[in-house]
Amino acid sequence: MPELPEVEVSRLGITPHLLGESVMRVVVRNPSLRWPVPAEIQELVGLTIVGIRRRAKYLLLETDWGTAILHLGMSGNLKVLPQGTPAGKHDHVDIELANGKLLRLNDPRRFGCLLWTREPVEQHPLLARLGPEPLTEAFDGDYLYQRSRGRKTAVKQFIMDNQIVVGVGNIYANESLFGAGISPKREAGNIGRERYLTLAGEIKAVLARAIGQGGTTLKDFTGSDGKPGYFVQELQVYGRAGQPCTRCGALLREVRMNGRSTVFCPLCQR
Ligand SMILES: [Zn+2]
Repeated sequence: MPELPEVEVSRLGITPHLLGESVMRVVVRNPSLRWPVPAEIQELVGLTIVGIRRRAKYLLLETDWGTAILHLGMSGNLKVLPQGTPAGKHDHVDIELANGKLLRLNDPRRFGCLLWTREPVEQHPLLARLGPEPLTEAFDGDYLYQRSRGRKTAVKQFIMDNQIVVGVGNIYANESLFGAGISPKREAGNIGRERYLTLAGEIKAVLARAIGQGGTTLKDFTGSDGKPGYFVQELQVYGRAGQPCTRCGALLREVRMNGRSTVFCPLCQR
C-alpha cells in the first residue's frame, strides 16, 4: 500500500509535468473505483492546474474552479506518459495535458479514487477530520502529549489514528516507537511530555528519511514502471522479529495489535 512517503514522492514526481498546464481531455475507462469517478470530473477540461498539494495520502490537483482529489488506495500508481501511449489493463483514468503528456492512474485493486469538488477542499468529508501533517510545525511532542491525556488506548494505535496525526503507517509506527524507546503497548495517557517530544521527533525523522530515499528514484518516475514503490530503508525492528536488537542484542519480539505486525525490543522499549 502506498504510504505517505510514496504519495509525497509521487507528488514531487508529477509536479514538474503538471504544474501550469491546462487539461485537454479526461479519459475515464473505468469509473468503478472505491467511489465512482463522478461525471463532473470533466469540468477539469480547459482548466489550468495551479497547484499539486498533498493532504494525508490524498493528492490534490488544484485549479481556479475546483479541486480533483486523488487517492492511490491499496495498489494505485501514477505515471506521466506521452499522449497516445496505449493503455494497459487497470489503466483506469488519463488526464491529458496541453504539453502532450498525460497523467495515468493505474490501480489493479481499485481501492483508489478520483473525485471532484468545487468547495474548499479542506472541508471535504474525506479531509475535514484529519489530524495535522506530521512534517509540519503543528505536529510536535506537546501536541501529542495534550491529545493523549486520559487516553487508555495503546500508544501505537494512538499515533496510527488519522484524527490524531496523518501518515503514520504500520512500518513507521514500529520504527518510531523503537527509536523513542517506547513500548507499543503502553497506554497513550501514561506517557509523559518528554517522551512524546522524543517520539514526535522520531516520527518526523523516519518519514523524512523515507521521502528522501524515495526522491532518489524520481528520475525513473516517467519510466515504464512508474511506481516509486516501497523505499528500502534500514528498518530497525519491522520485519526483524526474532533477530537481535541493534542496540542491546536482545531478541526482538512480535505481537499482533489490531491485526498488524508489531515488533519491539523487550529491553529497550518500555
Ligand atoms: Zn534492545
